[in-house]
Amino acid sequence: MKRSLFITAALAAIITCTSCGNDTVGKSVNSSSGPASTTEAAAETTAAGTTANETTAEAATEEQTESVQENTQHPISADAPAEGDPDYAPKPQQYDIEGLKYIDGTLIANKTYSLPSDFNPGLDPLCESQFYKLSEAAAAEGLSIYLSSGFRSYDYQAQIYSNYVEWNGQEQADTFSARPGHSEHQSGLAIDVNQIDDTFIGTPEAIWLEEHCHEFGFILRYPRGKQDITGYKYESWHIRYVGTDLAYIIHETGLTLEEYFGIDSEYQ
Ligand SMILES: [Zn+2]
Repeated sequence: MKRSLFITAALAAIITCTSCGNDTVGKSVNSSSGPASTTEAAAETTAAGTTANETTAEAATEEQTESVQENTQHPISADAPAEGDPDYAPKPQQYDIEGLKYIDGTLIANKTYSLPSDFNPGLDPLCESQFYKLSEAAAAEGLSIYLSSGFRSYDYQAQIYSNYVEWNGQEQADTFSARPGHSEHQSGLAIDVNQIDDTFIGTPEAIWLEEHCHEFGFILRYPRGKQDITGYKYESWHIRYVGTDLAYIIHETGLTLEEYFGIDSEYQ
């Protein structure tokens, strides 16, 4: 298990919600939507997956290579096209590796799917290097997008969450802070940028981030108007690394990860 720790200490601030839905439930998404080839995407997805050890990483690579190739056309919806329909795409493949939930090679951490308490990968190196490319591209346009909070350990998240429960009560805390084991920051694939609160909304940096983060393999993970689906209020500052193929699809369809994979985000 990877033990390198990149502790970035920044406390999540209290968040208020904005809601204005923009539900573009996807029709089929063309595989040409991303610049990366399927092979590159498979490699990126594998790296993004941050598996627990080399053996499982190899196993995952095989499955992911297959599934990514199948994965170019399937927004999930209740009335998904039937087999034989030109828009038909197979259901995403779900599998568990040492307590980690993967769907088509993408590691899932939400209110339904948790990470083991000893999963402690540090910030994923590909996620980190792609973030610095994003930051440089923004800087070239005179914008400052910087990392405020990256990897957070299970124990650190437990501390943050219990503080919020104490200050705000559990019901309120659950709308903006993850319970330990359920934070995407523990996956090493999520980054909070700049000021971690709603004062970031509408800034040139926030607008640029929403328009361009997919070009670097990131998605805005908790978009506005999707709280009932993602389980979290709109977070203009929280991006998740998924690789460019999936990021382009998510960006173009306006789907959340939950909608795209057809999964829930609810505490059991
Ligand atoms: Zn975050």
